[in-house]
Amino acid sequence: MSSYLNQQVLVLNRLWQAVNICTARRALTLLFQGHAQVVFGTADGSFRTFDFCEWHDFSRQEPHTESIHTVSFKIRVPRVIMLLIFDRLPKKEVKFTRLNIFERDRNTCQYCGSIFDRRDLNLDHVIPRDRGGPTSWENIVCSCIPCNTRKANQTPQEAGMQLIRKPKRPKWRPFVQVNLGFHYHESWKHFLDLAYWNVELGEGL
Ligand SMILES: [Zn+2]
Repeated sequence: MSSYLNQQVLVLNRLWQAVNICTARRALTLLFQGHAQVVFGTADGSFRTFDFCEWHDFSRQEPHTESIHTVSFKIRVPRVIMLLIFDRLPKKEVKFTRLNIFERDRNTCQYCGSIFDRRDLNLDHVIPRDRGGPTSWENIVCSCIPCNTRKANQTPQEAGMQLIRKPKRPKWRPFVQVNLGFHYHESWKHFLDLAYWNVELGEGL
């Protein structure tokens, strides 16, 4: 059939977050099975969703060059679809690693707020280990050596120090698996910009 079947389609989850890229072939299958809807930008800058029948009608009403002809019908190739089958982001926990803690804390000492080379940063137990502080996302932060020395075996409160932000488990980047090093279609821009702005920076890959 048509090479349009291999065209890339941006996949959004139900929160309208970009999660993947698939081929038009896959997108049309998902659409036909009722697992996805087409997301289409209208002239006024808003977005409409279409299920398979609606999209089929729309394809007929407004013929477009990027259409696939089959024996029985003709359907326009979508550029963006939204999955109906997943409520959440793909479940991928960020591994609890030294690297990912540095990533989460953006190489910034969580006490003085300065950025350091990784080799000049320690990992600090906020509540000291021998006081029952766990080794967890919520209790481990990056600390520079002077701050680490000053804090020693005390809680931040005892040391008169304050964390610049509360440590927590990072959420996985919604758009992590997609390599954007290629030219993408104009209709993706809105969602990619959203993905860009919604990504918490410095979270682990
Ligand atoms: Zn410091």
